[in-house]
Amino acid sequence: MTKLRALQANIVTLQVDAIVNAANSSLLGGGGVDGAIHRAAGPELLAECRTLGGCKTGDAKLTRGYRLPAKFVIHTVGPVWHSGKKGEPELLASCYRKSLTVASENGIKTIAFPSISTGVYGYPIELAAQIAVQTVSDTVQKLSKIDEVIFCCFSSNDLSIYESLLNKG
Ligand code: ADP
Repeated sequence: MTKLRALQANIVTLQVDAIVNAANSSLLGGGGVDGAIHRAAGPELLAECRTLGGCKTGDAKLTRGYRLPAKFVIHTVGPVWHSGKKGEPELLASCYRKSLTVASENGIKTIAFPSISTGVYGYPIELAAQIAVQTVSDTVQKLSKIDEVIFCCFSSNDLSIYESLLNKG
């Protein structure tokens, strides 16, 4: 059984096999969690990202973690929120599914996600957290190789939303 839990932290500090980056499609760095991850990992991360040729919305790509405690970074590109009418729920679910698939293909047992798309990309946190928890719960059952998934929340408000969803299950 995979353990799912939420905590409030700066994701770059977590000692897990992989952290997930809410990147943009260039994979060449940005603000928010992306900027924090690149700063903490060091310039080697950007150098590896340059070799990847970008990433489509809803897709995920793996790099090493360099100076991070995490061995790997899985870069995924969430959808920009446009009132939910442009396939945003499906694309956001795809970010979680593809990231976990990449993790399981690479022997990753512990993984932490930020709340993808809920910063600059404007996805409402309650809706995004529902998709995150539901999609991760469904996907880990099928993959069955991942020991722990952490929902890494930046704010206490986000943490309380994730915790109430996890406690329902
Ligand atoms: P997006 O462009 O996908 O919306 P953002 O980085 O703007 O990505 O925000 C995604 C989420 O990551 C937000 O909830 C934001 O508060 C959170 N966040 C920002 N920095 C960090 C960090 N260092 N660790 C964990 N979460 C973070």
